[in-house]
Amino acid sequence: MNTIAENHPFTINEQGHLDIGGADTVYLAKKYGTPLYVYDVSILRDNCRAFVQTFKELGASAQVAYASKAFSSTAMLQVVRQEGLSLDVVSQGELYTALQAEFPAEKIHMHGNNKSREELEMAIDHNVGCIVVDNFHEIELISSLLEKQNKEINVLMRVTPGIESKTHQYIMTGNEDSKFGFNLQNGQADRAFLELTKHEKIHFKGLHSHIGSQIFETDGFTLAADLLFKKLAEWNTDYGYIPEVLNLGGGFGIRYTKDDQPLAYAAYVKEMVSVVREQANHHNMPVPEIWIEPGRAIAGNAGITLYTVGSKKEIPGVRNYISVDGGMTDNLRPALYSARYEGVLANKASQPVKDKVSVAGKCCESGDMLIWDLPVPEVASEDILAVFSTGAYGYSMASHYNRLPNAGVVFVENGIDKLVVRRESFEDVVRNDLSYE
Ligand SMILES: *Cc1c(COP(=O)(O)O)cnc(C)c1O
Repeated sequence: MNTIAENHPFTINEQGHLDIGGADTVYLAKKYGTPLYVYDVSILRDNCRAFVQTFKELGASAQVAYASKAFSSTAMLQVVRQEGLSLDVVSQGELYTALQAEFPAEKIHMHGNNKSREELEMAIDHNVGCIVVDNFHEIELISSLLEKQNKEINVLMRVTPGIESKTHQYIMTGNEDSKFGFNLQNGQADRAFLELTKHEKIHFKGLHSHIGSQIFETDGFTLAADLLFKKLAEWNTDYGYIPEVLNLGGGFGIRYTKDDQPLAYAAYVKEMVSVVREQANHHNMPVPEIWIEPGRAIAGNAGITLYTVGSKKEIPGVRNYISVDGGMTDNLRPALYSARYEGVLANKASQPVKDKVSVAGKCCESGDMLIWDLPVPEVASEDILAVFSTGAYGYSMASHYNRLPNAGVVFVENGIDKLVVRRESFEDVVRNDLSYE
């Protein structure tokens, strides 16, 4: 058994190949070509259910909204809809995709720190369930659109609670430096409160905060809930305001490498339900609905990327490189913020480790490296490399750098594979080009 594969929720089959959802990854690579994103749909469903069912077991009213920026496609949003989740979108493109997937509008929440008039108009036209208001400019835009269309809308107010997660710890930042949301401490949130609550067509449902990403502890959410409740209690005392919703955002951490030790998703939910009940009780207010927004935690570990190994370069005494047929175009995270990944040779998944190689992408950037110092069996050209936990922020951040066509996406469930995003053709790459002669 390959020890790296053991860190990830996949098995090795009788041929010694890596399996995903009951399908042989080497077969999938041959059938669909590489690079290729592959998702195990049963893991996607399990991830959704881990959040939803824990709220249910605790008897807490909640909405679990999948943050679709992590991975948005029609098929993905169909699965999320089937599992009964709500959905976060941050642009017209994400909203359009949600509508394509026949996502119920009342379960869609519109986010963004610079929503355009067109985006807000589309959201209001389609009667989305909620707009998460980020700034004063947006309140003005929404007001004028509601007047024009004679409509009403639910909103949450995004606030920066003055907590920042540094992955394994939290820092209190007195003067919150963030492009998102209203400052909770300096009077901004209070001004926004007055603007929102005086507006007849705006239903101000409560507060929203999102403290960061790839978080492995519950403390940050507890701290955020404390701070948000303090403000809500003030508004309760001063104006008799009763919040219906408290949205604590996303950011639940997943395993990319063996160094990541994620909590069970149920642990976050239990802590949130307990702190929200405690705080409501403490401030003599009704317990609001809890909303959360997992993105990575739904899509991340369910997806892998398959590549074909091409060239090798040995620098004696320094390092051995192998290059694959994708890279920063299909997974920007290593180049963007030195994100770390693990992988195995899918066609040699049961062979003992012999070598250590660094995996380079094929783009013309020295920073286009996918994995440094990966332990592998003896590597040869045409081997298939599987990189784990690429299900979130992989496809969604893909680019056409070097005019590489975007990779396709395959869903596997119970051994059955289905293409859900076509690989782009070269015609697709030049589709919007216009001639100048
Ligand atoms: C990005 C984002 C999320 C999801 O973050 P993950 O780390 O993928 O869980 C949730 N809410 C908001 C507001 C976000 O910006």
